[in-house]
Amino acid sequence: PFIAITGTNGKSTTTALTAHILKSAGRDTQMGGNIGRAIMTLDPPEPQRHYVVECSSYQIDLAPSINPTAGILLNLTPDHLDRHGTMAHYASIKERLVAGSDTAIIGVDDSWCAQIADRLERAGRPVVRISKRLPLTDGYFADGTNLMEAVHGRYSRVAFLEGIGSLRGQHNAQNALAAVVACLKVGLELGEIQAGLESFPGLAHRMEQVGRKDHVLFVNDSKATNADAAAPALSSFANRIYWIAGGLPKEGGIEPLRGFFPRIAKAYLIGEAAPAFAATLGEAVPYEISGTLAAAVEHAAHDAANDAGGEAVVLLSPACASFDQFKNFEVRGEAFRQAATAIDGVKSIGGPR
Ligand code: ADP
Repeated sequence: PFIAITGTNGKSTTTALTAHILKSAGRDTQMGGNIGRAIMTLDPPEPQRHYVVECSSYQIDLAPSINPTAGILLNLTPDHLDRHGTMAHYASIKERLVAGSDTAIIGVDDSWCAQIADRLERAGRPVVRISKRLPLTDGYFADGTNLMEAVHGRYSRVAFLEGIGSLRGQHNAQNALAAVVACLKVGLELGEIQAGLESFPGLAHRMEQVGRKDHVLFVNDSKATNADAAAPALSSFANRIYWIAGGLPKEGGIEPLRGFFPRIAKAYLIGEAAPAFAATLGEAVPYEISGTLAAAVEHAAHDAANDAGGEAVVLLSPACASFDQFKNFEVRGEAFRQAATAIDGVKSIGGPR
Protein backbone atom coordinates (compact mmCIF):
# COMPACT_ATOMS: atom_id res chain seq x y z
CA PRO A 1 0.00 0.00 0.00
CA PHE A 2 1.57 3.20 -1.23
CA ILE A 3 -0.20 6.56 -1.01
CA ALA A 4 1.48 9.45 -2.84
CA ILE A 5 0.37 13.05 -2.47
CA THR A 6 0.93 16.09 -4.62
CA GLY A 7 -0.72 19.43 -5.43
CA THR A 8 0.26 23.07 -5.16
CA ASN A 9 -0.99 23.54 -1.58
CA GLY A 10 -1.84 21.21 1.28
CA LYS A 11 0.62 18.42 0.48
CA SER A 12 2.29 18.29 3.90
CA THR A 13 -0.99 18.53 5.79
CA THR A 14 -2.61 15.77 3.73
CA THR A 15 0.46 13.55 4.00
CA ALA A 16 0.74 13.99 7.77
CA LEU A 17 -3.01 13.50 8.23
CA THR A 18 -3.12 10.32 6.11
CA ALA A 19 -0.14 8.84 7.94
CA HIS A 20 -1.66 9.81 11.29
CA ILE A 21 -5.00 8.13 10.50
CA LEU A 22 -3.26 4.94 9.36
CA LYS A 23 -0.98 4.85 12.39
CA SER A 24 -3.77 5.51 14.83
CA ALA A 25 -5.68 2.60 13.25
CA GLY A 26 -2.68 0.40 14.04
CA ARG A 27 -1.28 0.16 10.52
CA ASP A 28 2.48 -0.16 10.08
CA THR A 29 3.16 3.20 8.39
CA GLN A 30 6.19 4.94 6.96
CA MET A 31 5.88 8.63 6.05
CA GLY A 32 8.37 10.73 4.14
CA GLY A 33 9.42 12.22 0.84
CA ASN A 34 9.08 15.98 0.67
CA ILE A 35 8.13 15.97 4.37
CA GLY A 36 10.29 14.60 7.19
CA ARG A 37 12.49 11.69 6.15
CA ALA A 38 13.89 11.39 2.64
CA ILE A 39 12.18 8.51 0.87
CA MET A 40 15.32 6.36 0.49
CA THR A 41 15.89 6.48 4.25
CA LEU A 42 12.47 5.04 5.11
CA ASP A 43 12.34 1.48 6.47
CA PRO A 44 12.30 -1.12 3.68
CA PRO A 45 9.07 -2.71 2.44
CA GLU A 46 7.43 -5.48 4.46
CA PRO A 47 4.11 -7.18 3.87
CA GLN A 48 1.38 -4.80 5.09
CA ARG A 49 3.76 -1.89 5.61
CA HIS A 50 2.11 1.30 4.32
CA TYR A 51 3.98 4.16 2.70
CA VAL A 52 2.65 7.70 2.67
CA VAL A 53 4.85 9.92 0.52
CA GLU A 54 4.64 13.63 -0.26
CA CYS A 55 5.88 14.41 -3.76
CA SER A 56 6.87 17.84 -5.01
CA SER A 57 6.68 18.57 -8.72
CA TYR A 58 10.48 18.39 -8.80
CA GLN A 59 10.40 14.87 -7.39
CA ILE A 60 7.69 13.62 -9.76
CA ASP A 61 9.72 15.10 -12.62
CA LEU A 62 12.60 12.83 -11.60
CA ALA A 63 10.50 9.67 -11.00
CA PRO A 64 8.95 8.66 -14.32
CA SER A 65 7.68 5.23 -13.21
CA ILE A 66 5.92 6.29 -10.00
CA ASN A 67 2.82 4.08 -9.52
CA PRO A 68 1.09 4.47 -6.16
CA THR A 69 -1.86 2.42 -4.92
CA ALA A 70 -3.65 5.72 -4.33
CA GLY A 71 -2.35 8.93 -5.88
CA ILE A 72 -3.68 12.26 -4.62
CA LEU A 73 -3.64 15.46 -6.66
CA LEU A 74 -5.12 18.13 -4.40
CA ASN A 75 -5.14 21.31 -6.50
CA LEU A 76 -3.18 23.27 -9.08
CA THR A 77 -2.42 26.99 -9.06
CA PRO A 78 0.57 28.75 -10.62
CA ASP A 79 3.75 27.99 -8.66
CA HIS A 80 7.38 27.16 -9.39
CA LEU A 81 6.96 28.37 -12.95
CA ASP A 82 10.58 29.54 -12.82
CA ARG A 83 11.52 25.88 -13.08
CA HIS A 84 8.65 24.46 -15.09
CA GLY A 85 8.19 27.28 -17.57
CA THR A 86 4.46 27.18 -18.25
CA MET A 87 1.42 26.25 -16.20
CA ALA A 88 0.64 23.54 -18.77
CA HIS A 89 4.03 21.92 -18.21
CA TYR A 90 3.73 22.20 -14.41
CA ALA A 91 0.26 20.61 -14.58
CA SER A 92 1.46 17.82 -16.87
CA ILE A 93 4.14 16.84 -14.34
CA LYS A 94 1.61 16.75 -11.50
CA GLU A 95 -0.73 14.72 -13.72
CA ARG A 96 1.89 11.98 -14.04
CA LEU A 97 1.53 11.10 -10.37
CA VAL A 98 -2.17 10.34 -10.70
CA ALA A 99 -1.92 8.89 -14.21
CA GLY A 100 0.17 6.02 -12.84
CA SER A 101 -2.01 5.38 -9.77
CA ASP A 102 -4.29 2.37 -9.21
CA THR A 103 -6.78 4.94 -7.94
CA ALA A 104 -6.45 8.63 -8.81
CA ILE A 105 -7.93 10.93 -6.14
CA ILE A 106 -8.28 14.40 -7.65
CA GLY A 107 -9.51 17.70 -6.21
CA VAL A 108 -11.70 19.13 -8.96
CA ASP A 109 -12.16 22.65 -7.57
CA ASP A 110 -9.77 24.20 -10.10
CA SER A 111 -10.06 23.82 -13.84
CA TRP A 112 -6.59 22.32 -14.33
CA CYS A 113 -7.34 19.43 -11.99
CA ALA A 114 -10.90 19.04 -13.28
CA GLN A 115 -9.52 18.57 -16.79
CA ILE A 116 -6.97 16.04 -15.59
CA ALA A 117 -9.74 14.03 -13.90
CA ASP A 118 -11.81 14.05 -17.10
CA ARG A 119 -8.84 13.06 -19.24
CA LEU A 120 -7.84 10.13 -17.01
CA GLU A 121 -11.41 8.90 -16.83
CA ARG A 122 -11.71 8.98 -20.62
CA ALA A 123 -8.51 6.93 -20.75
CA GLY A 124 -10.24 4.31 -18.57
CA ARG A 125 -8.33 5.04 -15.35
CA PRO A 126 -10.10 4.75 -11.98
CA VAL A 127 -10.74 8.31 -10.80
CA VAL A 128 -12.30 9.51 -7.54
CA ARG A 129 -13.22 13.20 -7.56
CA ILE A 130 -13.20 15.31 -4.42
CA SER A 131 -14.54 18.82 -3.95
CA LYS A 132 -14.34 21.16 -0.99
CA ARG A 133 -17.47 23.03 -2.11
CA LEU A 134 -19.51 21.39 -4.89
CA PRO A 135 -22.00 18.61 -4.34
CA LEU A 136 -20.76 16.04 -6.87
CA THR A 137 -22.90 13.36 -8.49
CA ASP A 138 -20.18 10.81 -7.87
CA GLY A 139 -17.23 11.23 -5.55
CA TYR A 140 -16.67 12.90 -2.19
CA PHE A 141 -17.39 16.48 -1.18
CA ALA A 142 -17.58 18.76 1.83
CA ASP A 143 -20.93 20.12 2.92
CA GLY A 144 -19.79 22.57 5.60
CA THR A 145 -17.90 20.40 8.06
CA ASN A 146 -19.55 17.19 6.88
CA LEU A 147 -17.61 14.99 4.46
CA MET A 148 -20.06 13.32 2.10
CA GLU A 149 -19.91 10.44 -0.35
CA ALA A 150 -21.98 10.76 -3.53
CA VAL A 151 -22.99 7.69 -5.51
CA HIS A 152 -25.12 8.51 -8.57
CA GLY A 153 -26.43 11.61 -6.82
CA ARG A 154 -27.28 9.86 -3.52
CA TYR A 155 -25.40 11.27 -0.56
CA SER A 156 -24.23 9.80 2.70
CA ARG A 157 -21.96 11.22 5.39
CA VAL A 158 -18.64 9.43 5.77
CA ALA A 159 -16.90 11.69 8.31
CA PHE A 160 -17.11 15.11 9.95
CA LEU A 161 -14.72 17.87 10.95
CA GLU A 162 -16.93 19.76 13.39
CA GLY A 163 -14.92 20.66 16.49
CA ILE A 164 -11.55 19.53 15.09
CA GLY A 165 -9.33 22.59 15.66
CA SER A 166 -6.44 21.30 13.54
CA LEU A 167 -8.66 20.93 10.46
CA ARG A 168 -10.49 24.26 10.34
CA GLY A 169 -11.31 25.87 7.02
CA GLN A 170 -12.42 24.83 3.55
CA HIS A 171 -8.86 24.16 2.46
CA ASN A 172 -8.55 21.59 5.22
CA ALA A 173 -11.81 20.00 4.12
CA GLN A 174 -10.06 19.35 0.79
CA ASN A 175 -7.06 17.86 2.59
CA ALA A 176 -9.26 15.74 4.86
CA LEU A 177 -11.39 14.45 1.95
CA ALA A 178 -8.26 13.29 0.15
CA ALA A 179 -6.94 11.55 3.26
CA VAL A 180 -10.31 9.90 3.96
CA VAL A 181 -10.61 8.50 0.43
CA ALA A 182 -7.01 7.23 0.43
CA CYS A 183 -7.57 5.50 3.78
CA LEU A 184 -10.79 3.91 2.51
CA LYS A 185 -8.84 2.63 -0.52
CA VAL A 186 -6.39 0.80 1.71
CA GLY A 187 -9.24 -0.76 3.67
CA LEU A 188 -9.77 1.35 6.78
CA GLU A 189 -13.20 1.44 8.42
CA LEU A 190 -15.09 4.74 8.77
CA GLY A 191 -14.87 4.58 12.57
CA GLU A 192 -11.09 4.27 12.43
CA ILE A 193 -10.89 7.19 10.03
CA GLN A 194 -13.08 9.45 12.17
CA ALA A 195 -10.98 8.64 15.26
CA GLY A 196 -7.82 9.55 13.34
CA LEU A 197 -9.28 12.85 12.12
CA GLU A 198 -10.28 13.79 15.65
CA SER A 199 -6.85 13.09 17.15
CA PHE A 200 -4.84 14.82 14.40
CA PRO A 201 -2.54 17.31 16.13
CA GLY A 202 -1.96 19.38 12.98
CA LEU A 203 1.39 20.49 11.63
CA ALA A 204 3.57 23.06 13.30
CA HIS A 205 3.40 26.59 11.82
CA ARG A 206 0.26 25.92 9.74
CA MET A 207 -2.72 27.38 11.55
CA GLU A 208 -1.30 25.71 14.61
CA GLN A 209 -3.11 26.42 17.87
CA VAL A 210 -0.35 27.11 20.37
CA GLY A 211 -2.12 28.56 23.39
CA ARG A 212 -5.30 29.84 24.95
CA LYS A 213 -6.21 32.26 27.69
CA ASP A 214 -9.91 32.60 28.48
CA HIS A 215 -11.60 33.68 25.24
CA VAL A 216 -8.32 34.30 23.34
CA LEU A 217 -6.77 31.64 21.09
CA PHE A 218 -3.17 32.02 19.84
CA VAL A 219 -2.54 30.63 16.35
CA ASN A 220 0.81 30.22 14.63
CA ASP A 221 0.51 30.30 10.82
CA SER A 222 4.13 31.30 10.18
CA LYS A 223 4.21 29.09 7.06
CA ALA A 224 1.96 31.65 5.33
CA THR A 225 4.77 33.46 3.52
CA ASN A 226 2.60 35.22 0.94
CA ALA A 227 -0.90 36.64 0.67
CA ASP A 228 -2.37 33.50 -0.96
CA ALA A 229 -1.13 31.34 1.89
CA ALA A 230 -2.46 33.76 4.52
CA ALA A 231 -5.96 33.78 3.02
CA PRO A 232 -7.07 30.37 4.43
CA ALA A 233 -6.23 31.41 8.00
CA LEU A 234 -8.01 34.77 7.70
CA SER A 235 -11.04 33.00 6.23
CA SER A 236 -11.10 30.22 8.84
CA PHE A 237 -11.79 32.19 12.00
CA ALA A 238 -15.22 33.53 12.74
CA ASN A 239 -13.60 34.98 15.87
CA ARG A 240 -12.36 38.54 16.12
CA ILE A 241 -8.88 38.49 14.52
CA TYR A 242 -5.88 40.31 15.99
CA TRP A 243 -3.58 39.88 13.03
CA ILE A 244 0.23 39.93 13.16
CA ALA A 245 1.62 40.42 9.67
CA GLY A 246 4.75 41.59 7.92
CA GLY A 247 8.33 40.55 7.34
CA LEU A 248 10.13 40.58 4.04
CA PRO A 249 7.47 41.70 1.55
CA LYS A 250 6.40 39.66 -1.48
CA GLU A 251 5.12 41.01 -4.76
CA GLY A 252 1.52 42.23 -4.52
CA GLY A 253 1.65 42.75 -0.75
CA ILE A 254 -1.66 42.21 1.09
CA GLU A 255 -3.92 43.79 -1.51
CA PRO A 256 -5.35 40.31 -2.41
CA LEU A 257 -6.50 39.97 1.22
CA ARG A 258 -8.72 43.08 1.15
CA GLY A 259 -11.89 40.94 1.25
CA PHE A 260 -10.88 39.71 4.70
CA PHE A 261 -10.22 43.16 6.16
CA PRO A 262 -13.65 43.41 7.85
CA ARG A 263 -12.76 40.33 9.97
CA ILE A 264 -9.65 41.97 11.37
CA ALA A 265 -10.12 43.76 14.69
CA LYS A 266 -6.62 45.22 14.52
CA ALA A 267 -3.35 44.56 12.67
CA TYR A 268 0.13 44.54 14.25
CA LEU A 269 2.74 45.15 11.59
CA ILE A 270 6.33 43.94 11.80
CA GLY A 271 9.48 43.93 9.70
CA GLU A 272 10.30 45.63 6.43
CA ALA A 273 6.80 45.29 5.00
CA ALA A 274 5.18 47.32 7.81
CA PRO A 275 4.99 50.71 6.05
CA ALA A 276 3.65 49.23 2.81
CA PHE A 277 1.08 47.09 4.65
CA ALA A 278 0.04 50.14 6.68
CA ALA A 279 -0.56 52.03 3.44
CA THR A 280 -2.74 49.20 2.10
CA LEU A 281 -4.74 48.91 5.33
CA GLY A 282 -5.26 52.68 5.34
CA GLU A 283 -8.59 53.57 6.89
CA ALA A 284 -10.02 50.08 6.40
CA VAL A 285 -8.41 48.38 9.42
CA PRO A 286 -7.03 49.80 12.68
CA TYR A 287 -3.33 49.03 12.88
CA GLU A 288 -0.12 49.76 14.70
CA ILE A 289 3.47 49.44 13.53
CA SER A 290 4.78 47.11 16.22
CA GLY A 291 8.19 46.61 14.62
CA THR A 292 9.16 43.36 16.32
CA LEU A 293 7.24 40.13 16.74
CA ALA A 294 7.67 40.29 20.52
CA ALA A 295 6.01 43.72 20.71
CA ALA A 296 3.27 42.61 18.31
CA VAL A 297 2.39 39.54 20.40
CA GLU A 298 2.33 41.55 23.62
CA HIS A 299 0.10 44.28 22.22
CA ALA A 300 -2.21 41.93 20.33
CA ALA A 301 -2.65 39.70 23.39
CA HIS A 302 -3.49 42.73 25.53
CA ASP A 303 -6.04 44.09 23.07
CA ALA A 304 -7.63 40.68 22.46
CA ALA A 305 -7.93 40.08 26.21
CA ASN A 306 -9.90 43.33 26.50
CA ASP A 307 -12.17 42.51 23.56
CA ALA A 308 -15.68 42.30 24.92
CA GLY A 309 -16.98 40.78 21.69
CA GLY A 310 -16.46 37.09 22.61
CA GLU A 311 -14.03 34.64 21.04
CA ALA A 312 -10.86 36.29 19.72
CA VAL A 313 -7.75 35.01 17.99
CA VAL A 314 -4.20 36.37 18.00
CA LEU A 315 -3.05 35.17 14.62
CA LEU A 316 0.48 35.22 13.20
CA SER A 317 -0.12 34.79 9.47
CA PRO A 318 2.52 37.15 8.11
CA ALA A 319 1.96 37.06 4.33
CA CYS A 320 5.72 37.66 4.08
CA ALA A 321 9.01 35.82 4.08
CA SER A 322 10.85 35.86 7.39
CA PHE A 323 14.43 36.53 6.39
CA ASP A 324 14.54 40.20 7.43
CA GLN A 325 14.16 39.27 11.11
CA PHE A 326 14.40 35.45 11.35
CA LYS A 327 16.44 32.59 9.89
CA ASN A 328 13.32 30.94 8.45
CA PHE A 329 9.57 30.59 8.98
CA GLU A 330 10.08 27.82 11.56
CA VAL A 331 12.24 30.05 13.77
CA ARG A 332 9.65 32.83 13.40
CA GLY A 333 6.86 30.43 14.41
CA GLU A 334 8.80 29.19 17.43
CA ALA A 335 9.42 32.80 18.51
CA PHE A 336 5.65 33.40 18.31
CA ARG A 337 4.91 30.28 20.34
CA GLN A 338 7.40 31.28 23.02
CA ALA A 339 6.16 34.87 23.21
CA ALA A 340 2.52 33.74 23.38
CA THR A 341 2.99 31.01 25.96
CA ALA A 342 5.16 33.29 28.13
CA ILE A 343 2.18 35.59 28.67
CA ASP A 344 0.75 35.28 32.15
CA GLY A 345 -2.14 32.83 32.19
CA VAL A 346 -1.76 31.48 28.64
CA LYS A 347 -2.21 27.70 28.65
CA SER A 348 0.02 26.05 26.08
CA ILE A 349 -1.60 23.73 23.49
CA GLY A 350 0.84 21.08 22.25
CA GLY A 351 4.55 21.47 22.89
CA PRO A 352 7.61 22.72 21.05
CA ARG A 353 8.25 20.52 17.99
P1 ADP B 1 2.41 22.32 1.10
O1 ADP B 1 3.11 21.14 1.70
O2 ADP B 1 1.75 21.97 -0.21
O3 ADP B 1 3.23 23.57 1.04
P2 ADP B 1 1.02 22.67 3.64
O4 ADP B 1 0.16 21.54 4.06
O5 ADP B 1 2.37 22.81 4.27
O6 ADP B 1 1.16 22.67 2.05
O7 ADP B 1 0.21 24.03 3.88
C1 ADP B 1 0.84 25.29 3.63
C2 ADP B 1 -0.17 26.42 3.68
O8 ADP B 1 -1.01 26.32 2.53
C3 ADP B 1 -1.10 26.36 4.88
O9 ADP B 1 -0.65 27.18 5.94
C4 ADP B 1 -2.41 26.87 4.34
O10 ADP B 1 -2.45 28.26 4.47
C5 ADP B 1 -2.38 26.54 2.87
N1 ADP B 1 -3.12 25.33 2.50
C6 ADP B 1 -3.11 24.11 3.13
N2 ADP B 1 -3.91 23.25 2.49
C7 ADP B 1 -4.43 23.91 1.43
C8 ADP B 1 -5.33 23.54 0.37
N3 ADP B 1 -5.85 22.31 0.27
N4 ADP B 1 -5.63 24.51 -0.54
C9 ADP B 1 -5.12 25.76 -0.47
N5 ADP B 1 -4.28 26.17 0.51
C10 ADP B 1 -3.93 25.25 1.44
